[in-house]
Amino acid sequence: DHGNPFGHTNGREANHAGPSSVPLNPAAQAIQEQRKQLPIYLGRDALIEEIKRNDVTVLLGETGSGKTTQVPQYLLESGLAGNGMIAVTQPRKVAATSLAQRVAAEQNGPLGKVVGYAVRFDEKSSPQTRIKYMTDGMIMRELMSDPLLSRYSVVIVDEAHERTLRTDLLIANLKRLQKHRNGSSDAKGKGNSNSSKPLKIVIMSATLDAEKFSKFFYNAKILYIKGRQHPVKIYHSAESQPDYVDSAMRTFFQIHTDQPPGDVLIFLPGQEDIESLEKSIDMFAKRLPQDSPEVLVCPMFAAQAPGKNAKVFMSPPPNTRKCVLATNIAETSITIPGVKYVIDTGKCKEKQYLARMAGGGFDTLLTRDITKSSAMQRAGRAGREGSGVCFRLYTEDAFNSMAPSGEPEILRCSLTSSMLQLRCLGQDLMELDLMDAPDTDAICSALKTLFIIGAFNKQSQLTPAGRHMASFPLEPQHACAIVASKEHGCSSEVIDVISVLSASSKLFLDITEQRDAVSEARLKFRHPSGDHLTILNVVHAYQEIASSEKKKSRKEWCRKHFLNERTLVEAREIREQLRQTCTRVGVDYTTSCGENEGPVITCLGHGLVANSAFLQPDGSYKQTMGSSFVKIHPGSTLSDKKVPAIIYDELVYTNQIYARGVSSIPKSFFAKHHALSQRAA
Ligand code: ADP
Ligand code: MG
Repeated sequence: DHGNPFGHTNGREANHAGPSSVPLNPAAQAIQEQRKQLPIYLGRDALIEEIKRNDVTVLLGETGSGKTTQVPQYLLESGLAGNGMIAVTQPRKVAATSLAQRVAAEQNGPLGKVVGYAVRFDEKSSPQTRIKYMTDGMIMRELMSDPLLSRYSVVIVDEAHERTLRTDLLIANLKRLQKHRNGSSDAKGKGNSNSSKPLKIVIMSATLDAEKFSKFFYNAKILYIKGRQHPVKIYHSAESQPDYVDSAMRTFFQIHTDQPPGDVLIFLPGQEDIESLEKSIDMFAKRLPQDSPEVLVCPMFAAQAPGKNAKVFMSPPPNTRKCVLATNIAETSITIPGVKYVIDTGKCKEKQYLARMAGGGFDTLLTRDITKSSAMQRAGRAGREGSGVCFRLYTEDAFNSMAPSGEPEILRCSLTSSMLQLRCLGQDLMELDLMDAPDTDAICSALKTLFIIGAFNKQSQLTPAGRHMASFPLEPQHACAIVASKEHGCSSEVIDVISVLSASSKLFLDITEQRDAVSEARLKFRHPSGDHLTILNVVHAYQEIASSEKKKSRKEWCRKHFLNERTLVEAREIREQLRQTCTRVGVDYTTSCGENEGPVITCLGHGLVANSAFLQPDGSYKQTMGSSFVKIHPGSTLSDKKVPAIIYDELVYTNQIYARGVSSIPKSFFAKHHALSQRAA
């Protein structure tokens, strides 16, 4: 690994003009030039000075001004971080990985050396890593092994305005541990016996809500960076557009045929819409007249391979218009160069916990209207390099009735996972100094779930099993199934199923035009007990193919069976990580129940016990823990069957409540389970 002439051994060598001893190639030189063009560059020295002077700094700046990519490098280059690491937290996985990639290039080194990243199930870092982009969830996880975050000298909380649950918990913890590490003001200074070094906190945000952060940190200093925003002309649609995907496509081709050159950015709520719009744009682009410019569609979403995501940053070939399809990741987290036109569907997906309805389940992603603040951010993306145009696929009245800004996640998400994690840190969610305190209902619901999966006892104290569950980078309900598999001798199977459930996209592709062919192909894997063991059958079949066939025929096999290979590949990596955790907590991941798969359902039942329902005389299912009636999703292998009791992965809300990812479970399980939880208490 010493062959790389640009490899840094020490962050300070990496000054902002690149390592001086080695001449930079033209591409690397161009990158250094770009860095100097960013609005933040002029404030570099002042910024370093302020951060040096203050324990906590709140930094506010327009999207694209250079906060996320430059501030960590400035701190590294100035030596302010000493020999500790600089963490930069992001709410989203794709932002963390793609920004790390960019900053590694700016530091002229490979990703994973000086600049690395850590996201769930994926980490690229080394002992040389000095700047680490990570999700807010990952740094919360690091607290478990390093309660003072002693490896870091600076923690930059980025995109703080999004107020994700984990960002809020992180901010609360940073406040607490900074007190610990930096000591009271009179103990400060040289020769302090305190073994860990002081911690700097930088809170970064793109919107104007800095006051609240500043207040929370004893009126911390707020710094502003002026961006370069050009005028953006905004058009609203005359009527509402219920089919926003179709409407986005028509708007795109209108721009493409009528408007001068410039790339287009389309905001959509999620991956499914992105993929469907990609298909239809590609299809229509083929029918354009010979002489019209080409179209290059670049989708961007979490489940996509990082290499594919990198395509959105490249400039398109000549005579080609780039069309980026993105979720709200492109709102403030990632700035895409070349964008002159924005098409805003006005929709986003948001995590939502329906505590009363779901009776202790997971968060559901719901498509909903965006806020005014998001709408303004989205429009702003058209005016970064010159004047631009934003087409809103909603009416002006609709805009006027949008909520001004979003509600912090802590007020609308399941607290189950966080509560367990905090308890492992010896903390109590109810006693933590938080920016916004959660709802009592949500707390009760989380306590109830943790009790019935056996993570807490009746006195709401952490059990040994609960501690094991918290070691897994999974929702406690899924971790519970793995922990339970130890006793039932089927860890291998349970891990296989959980790995697929944890992947970022679904295993079964739904191709509406070929519904019959799809169900035909699926028949082969179908298990009478339902979807979980059907997944297991697929995993086993794929393993067999994967061990004997070449990559190309594996792809072909997946295509033929309408399976998402990306999911299977990702699941294999996840399985590897889950196995490592198993080894740490003493679960033998090789134990297998062979053909007798009953125990697998029992283990999943232990985890999903709150997600269960009993058959009613009228053929519907009534939740065992909530009061709602649910139907089995038409996509489930159990959709045309009636069984006495079911467990399910999630609820989907359309005109009815559907349970998705469903398995049949013997009713006797619940009697036994009840007896067990009584004993545990
Ligand atoms: P801010 O955090 O203030 O929104 P950033 O630091 O994210 O700003 O972005 C600064 C600049 O870096 C932008 O012009 C953006 O286009 C560029 N940039 C970020 N990531 C990449 C990438 N992967 N490839 C090329 N340019 C990038
Ligand atoms: Mg940023």
